[in-house]
Amino acid sequence: MNITLSNGKVLPIEMHQIKIVQKTHLPPASRRLEAMQEAGFNTFLLRTKDIFLDMLTDSGTNAMSDRQLSAMMASDDAYAGSESFFRLAAAVQEVFGLRFVMPVHQGRAAEHLLAKAFVKPGDAVLMNYHFTTSKAHVDLAGGRVIELFGEDALETCSCNPFKGNLDLGKFAAAVEERGPERIAYVRMEATTNLIGGQPFSMQNLRDVKAMADSFGIPLVFDGSLISENAYFIQQREAEFAGTTLQEIILEMMRNVDILYMSGRKSAAARGGLIATNRKDFYDRILAWLPVYEGFATYGGMSTKEIEAMAVGLREMTDPAVASSSADFIEYFVRRLAEEGVPVVTPAGGLACHLDATRFLPHIPQSQYPAGALAAAIYIASGIRGMERGTISTDRGADGSETLADMELVRLALPRRLYTLSHIEYAIDRLKWLFVHRELIGGLKFVEEPAVLRFFFGRLAPIGGWDERLAEDFRADFGDAC
Ligand SMILES: *Cc1c(COP(=O)(O)O)cnc(C)c1O
Repeated sequence: MNITLSNGKVLPIEMHQIKIVQKTHLPPASRRLEAMQEAGFNTFLLRTKDIFLDMLTDSGTNAMSDRQLSAMMASDDAYAGSESFFRLAAAVQEVFGLRFVMPVHQGRAAEHLLAKAFVKPGDAVLMNYHFTTSKAHVDLAGGRVIELFGEDALETCSCNPFKGNLDLGKFAAAVEERGPERIAYVRMEATTNLIGGQPFSMQNLRDVKAMADSFGIPLVFDGSLISENAYFIQQREAEFAGTTLQEIILEMMRNVDILYMSGRKSAAARGGLIATNRKDFYDRILAWLPVYEGFATYGGMSTKEIEAMAVGLREMTDPAVASSSADFIEYFVRRLAEEGVPVVTPAGGLACHLDATRFLPHIPQSQYPAGALAAAIYIASGIRGMERGTISTDRGADGSETLADMELVRLALPRRLYTLSHIEYAIDRLKWLFVHRELIGGLKFVEEPAVLRFFFGRLAPIGGWDERLAEDFRADFGDAC
């Protein structure tokens, strides 16, 4: 929620009070340098005891509400027929208008079952953009992902309010080229994660659905970040200016054949689900559910998390909840842009993304500017972000480096976890780092796994810049902060 101050400035404000807290601490700069060295300059390998603000991801790290926590206490543990499942089904019916629901242990489990049920070897799956796990499951089923994003989806500096839109011309061309029978489904991802949390418009979703129907292709909707996309539609698409988020979500669902989602993001729980009104689709997916997840009424989830997800689904339709991260991110991005720090615009729905290509133009892509920036941010602030660039892109089959489309550092804002003073602190340290950007150098691999190297790979700074950066930081702030 945004409020306007008496001086005309807009301030994002917390529409909740904090009743349970977890103590955190800021390790001194000398310890941060050491911890980064121990972690092989890979933020995934840091331990949380060394982290002040954890902005690695918004997945499963959101603050939960009092109602979610109390619902967990009253869960009904049963292998089959659990009341917790029926409370989830009621929430899915109310929030999405969908009759059939299957719990799964998380979002990627839904992707696995969908690929099992729909993707045959040689099939294509069309997407507005891929997500790492959604692509992996299509690949493993022998299918192929074709991305149909618009012209400026990958531009880091843009005014397009709907960079997540799927390009209809490319859609028609892909169907023309392969034939509709070789296309398993078209997948629309809400608040498109890997291009910076960018939404699609309702008009685009309606157009994609109409075209998919004309070819007889099912539309699968990845709703992991659905409430943020609904909020952006309300804020940015004229037709929906006065419409409630609940109505927007229902209108979205009138344009999908199958919804699936991770429960770890918008729903502020842990788990996932698949839902549909198509009995034939439900039956087809259900056949795989007990094999990989569990019985139809728990699907690999604990009943406690089923209860938390049911409450989380209803709560995410509250504008105070749906806007909580988005408004803070917008503030974060706007303030950094005012200071000249290169960020991705417009602000998205899950994180503030820094553009390492513009932040560190002196570091060639082969020396991983986004990885270097993520390491430098940690040394200068104790904040953990995530590299989304060439390190996150594995080498080609011949061992050659694949340079990423974009070199980004993602600073995710878990929903309702941090306060505005945390954001102010982050802005200040990023400003300092930008002024001292010449101190930052590149990285090279010292241990490099062949697959998903960003998780476990270890790197080293080229030319000992880490020590110099920490020294300059201590000269300005002392060791304690
Ligand atoms: C996180 C996420 C997934 C995968 O969900 P998990 O619960 O992490 O398995 C799929 N799609 C999108 C858009 C996501 O953000």
